[in-house]
Amino acid sequence: MKFDGIHEKTLVLIKPDAVQRGLVGEIIKRFETKGLKVVGLKMMRLGDAVLREHYAHIASKPFYPSVEKFMMSSPVVALCLEGLEVVDAVRLVMGITKSRAAVAGSIRGDLAMGYGCNVIHGSDTVENAQAEVARFFKPDEILDYDKGEYLHVYSDDERV
Ligand code: UDP
Ligand code: MG
Repeated sequence: MKFDGIHEKTLVLIKPDAVQRGLVGEIIKRFETKGLKVVGLKMMRLGDAVLREHYAHIASKPFYPSVEKFMMSSPVVALCLEGLEVVDAVRLVMGITKSRAAVAGSIRGDLAMGYGCNVIHGSDTVENAQAEVARFFKPDEILDYDKGEYLHVYSDDERV
């Protein structure tokens, strides 16, 4: 799976609060209109084992049990997005963890108020993105295809 240049990939999870509040389409729309390419998309239920692995960096925190319970409370939508410097681009479009303090215009800033209920997950580094895409998608669930609008999303020198 290619992860370099225009083929950099990242993992987004649309969390249970967004599924319950009917925000799945709105969130996907924001990534599409940003110019990002959807190369993987599926709805799934998360189990405690995958969540402990995915959230290893917070698994020992006192709030972890409530994060786990929340993340298992409804299905989530997993997205693999592709683009130039997509990991950083998605983090910017997402907004900071504490939604009520996230900048207006960001997904969390516009659509959420909570800390735990912050509507999406996005990988924070290229290295973590590679591991997270592999955690949630099988190789044949990531689709390689040409997107016509790329002619108007990137200039020639960026589109290599
Ligand atoms: N979280 C929380 N309370 C905290 C910190 C984190 O409920 O004080 C939850 C929140 O849903 C967050 C997730 O744990 O999205 C993972 O935390 P991380 O620091 O990785 O934040 P993110 O990368 O999602 O902004
Ligand atoms: Mg994180």
